[in-house]
Amino acid sequence: HQHNKLPAGSYRSTCCYCGVGCGIIVNRDRQGKISVEGDKDHPVNKGMLCSKGMNLHYTVMDTSDRLYYPEMRYNKHLPRHRVSWDQALDRTAAVFKQMIAQYGPDSVAFYASGQCLTEEYYVVNKLIKGFIGSNNIDTNSRLCMSSAVAAYKMSLGEDSVPGNYDDIEQTDCIFVAGANPAWCHPILWRRIEAAKAKNPALKIIVSDPRVTQSCAIADVHLQLMPGTDIVLHHAIGRILIETGRTDQHFLQEHTEGFAKYRDTVMQRSISSAAAICGIEEEKIYSAATMLGNAGTFMTMWTMGLNQSSVGVNKNLSLINLNLITGKIGKPGCGPFSLTGQPNAMGGREVGGLSNMLPAHRVLDNPAHRKEVENFWGGTALSDKPGLTATEMFEALNDGRLKAIWIMCTNPLVSLPDARMAEAALQKAKFVVVQEISSRPETLRYADVVLPAAAWTEKEGTMTNAERRITYLQKVNDAPGEALPDAEIICRFARKMGFHGFDFEQPADIYAEHTQLTAGTNIDITGVNYKILKERRSLQWPYPVGTTGPGTPRLFTDHKFYTSSTKAIIHTFSDDNRSVRPDPAFSLILTTGRIRDQWHTMTKTGKVSKLKQHIPAPLLEIHPEDAEQRQIRDSDIVEVSSANGVVRVKARLTTSIKKGVVFLPMHWGRILDNDLSRANNLTNRLVDKISKQPDLKYTTVQVQSYKKG
Ligand code: SF4
Repeated sequence: HQHNKLPAGSYRSTCCYCGVGCGIIVNRDRQGKISVEGDKDHPVNKGMLCSKGMNLHYTVMDTSDRLYYPEMRYNKHLPRHRVSWDQALDRTAAVFKQMIAQYGPDSVAFYASGQCLTEEYYVVNKLIKGFIGSNNIDTNSRLCMSSAVAAYKMSLGEDSVPGNYDDIEQTDCIFVAGANPAWCHPILWRRIEAAKAKNPALKIIVSDPRVTQSCAIADVHLQLMPGTDIVLHHAIGRILIETGRTDQHFLQEHTEGFAKYRDTVMQRSISSAAAICGIEEEKIYSAATMLGNAGTFMTMWTMGLNQSSVGVNKNLSLINLNLITGKIGKPGCGPFSLTGQPNAMGGREVGGLSNMLPAHRVLDNPAHRKEVENFWGGTALSDKPGLTATEMFEALNDGRLKAIWIMCTNPLVSLPDARMAEAALQKAKFVVVQEISSRPETLRYADVVLPAAAWTEKEGTMTNAERRITYLQKVNDAPGEALPDAEIICRFARKMGFHGFDFEQPADIYAEHTQLTAGTNIDITGVNYKILKERRSLQWPYPVGTTGPGTPRLFTDHKFYTSSTKAIIHTFSDDNRSVRPDPAFSLILTTGRIRDQWHTMTKTGKVSKLKQHIPAPLLEIHPEDAEQRQIRDSDIVEVSSANGVVRVKARLTTSIKKGVVFLPMHWGRILDNDLSRANNLTNRLVDKISKQPDLKYTTVQVQSYKKG
């Protein structure tokens, strides 16, 4: 539908925090004061905002931490000083050229973010792949979504979320696996709560080692041990098969691989599965019965499945439940991965990861490389996959990588084994940090700092978790000399002597991006700024000539993007423990978010209202585990793993499974002290397919900390 015209001083935007993608109206008064409200016309949130979204204006109004001018230093022992944009970019270009000449194009890398706008992602991806000639670009989406992406490709033939949020109001049952949307995707959860209130027959199943806020409306909570998700999903699959709840016609006509899957899941009894998962057998039966009896059901998941050394298999094992029951491609059905970041989907549209090319083209397909190469008209595209997020920092450590350009992300808090990441930046020959804020820990190690424009200070597009592209209007100017990220990258590319970066405005970048999608599964050749401004948001695919709001649902004809057009049911072992428990480290640490903070707190940490909820990191530990260690509530405890140490207060709670401890991942350094940083502890294991780190399973020991 068309949207109402807004009064002067009001602008349409999209929340820049989570992948729900809520529509926001930003109001700017004559004095330049900014306020926000939920966009009642927006199909995602219908006017609602969560605590983080509601307080977004503070992050823009408070410029006390903003970077105003470019800075640079010639020597790592000297402080940085203010320079002009030309000086900063000339020097950066000179260093990059010298590195590339001396060590080759793979000696430099860009590490970007799922919070970048699509246009920003597009130009940085074009720069490194199409002109520098390396695939060394990755983003923090590698820590977030890459297991889901790989699983979608393997099972459905394409990285494509089949359904949309409106399925919530049409479904009979939702299985929320390894996620706490009540805190991490709050407006989506408000819709689920409202759907349940309206239709008490709607069943909610939650699997999580913690009793979270999302369990408050769950009909069944499967409080499993971390790392046992595949066992659980296979057990549910077995019960669905044994009780005749599979869709034989769908299996026959539209899938491959069922017989092998059936044979595998039949090998483990439900009692054995229950013992491994640490949950009662009846609860597994109860969940399976709810799914089996549901005329329609959705599966939803996030980091509990994705952030694992077997993350892809965890994803596949859940998607298999939709496939064996034929619950996909219909209203109220489908696997639905909930994106963590606001524009992780847009980043993948442009191919902004080290193993991807634009419009979901595949790096190891020579025809795909040639298409992109011809379109860009730069250098030959390399067929060598680039370094992924964790690999970049390992390569800096061992000297293979010389220079890194970090934009819009704070890896020294978010990467696993953060002390290793910090050591890597110390060893790097050259570090560029492109940022809005002076808060990120990365700035300590930056040779060049490039100040970027924030959320309301630029225009562009983002794509949310349901394939919905939205346009963000510019509201106010950036402080000082800060520039939009896309402009910084284009200016740098021109300094490098590359053509094809002289875009006059973001709309031109977007137009080039959409042209590259022609004929692909994510064709958005019908999308441009004009139609986005009129309609506000559209769901891809949206080929030229499309009218209306786009494609709310994929696979309605049950034809998938695989070569056979059938969905693939994958089979694999359920041996899914990430790190074997070591007697010296007998507890399992799982990390995650809290309600009112976002990522590494560079934005939410500025808002005093948001600090009130949970002002400091607390280690959640079960009272029985605490008692064994003579730990009382609020004691300072030392948590240690093979990688490092954290010292925080303990919170004794029966909401965490015995044998498991939880630490929020938001805090980094407090003054000069890094002992609140959860990622000091986490291990560097990654999934062998998705290369996503295993942030949900590190074996640790916890003891009371006595000073002196
Ligand atoms: Fe922003 Fe997500 Fe909250 Fe919506 S649910 S307001 S997108 S943080």
